[in-house]
Amino acid sequence: MVFTEIIEDFIPAGRANRSGLKLSGPKWITIHDTANTRAGAGAMAHARYLKGDEAAKLPVSWHFTVDDKQIVQHLPLNEVGWHAGDGLNGTGNRSSIGVEICENQDGNREKAEANAAWLVADLLQKFLLDINQVVQHNKWSGKNCPRVLRGRPNGWEQFLTAVEQNLKENIFPDVPASHWAAEAIKFVKDNSLMTGKSNGNFYPDEPLTRAQMAVVLKRFYDFLHKKPYTKNLKKKIKIRRRRKLRGELKAKFNG
Ligand SMILES: [Zn+2]
Repeated sequence: MVFTEIIEDFIPAGRANRSGLKLSGPKWITIHDTANTRAGAGAMAHARYLKGDEAAKLPVSWHFTVDDKQIVQHLPLNEVGWHAGDGLNGTGNRSSIGVEICENQDGNREKAEANAAWLVADLLQKFLLDINQVVQHNKWSGKNCPRVLRGRPNGWEQFLTAVEQNLKENIFPDVPASHWAAEAIKFVKDNSLMTGKSNGNFYPDEPLTRAQMAVVLKRFYDFLHKKPYTKNLKKKIKIRRRRKLRGELKAKFNG
């Protein structure tokens, strides 16, 4: 699991590289490399570039820049950016979220790719997209981009595998491993104190009714006090784990 902070630093509305157009979908996540190896050319430097006149004049814009330390968001996720090189009405521009991975020589490229994989997994889940909807800039315009991933043997495959790994680590489809309450949600799930809904999602932002709260409290009371049912080894192991956990919890509450 990678936890990476996303910093919002939008290109000001009204600038020539703010399209103001509604993004269709999004249906795709387009991956780029910045092709900028200069020292200091990290995510914040690209945020400054996008707010400047040079980027406005082109115009060029994209949604996220990722380096080894942070992720900066430059555009709202429902707005078209100009990054795919397939024109005003291109599918890439009109229906994909653009993610740039930094190549600055003073940064850790491996970490930047790991952060990007985390972000892409997060976006796939947010918009209910599939791994096949993660594509290279090359798909839209034929440009050799993302050039680092394309240039390294199996680079692109490795990146997609890292995205899939992030997807697997999530607790529910709508609860990524990076969610602020991930540990607590994993606990209530593993110990059957709370479950997901029929479609498998947890809906972490939905409210709980008083009746549901009472059910959870009753389950928690039983979890702490009742003698567990022993039938087979698998269950015994589970029970041992539960006893250990119960001891830890009691110590926590008493301490
Ligand atoms: Zn590109």
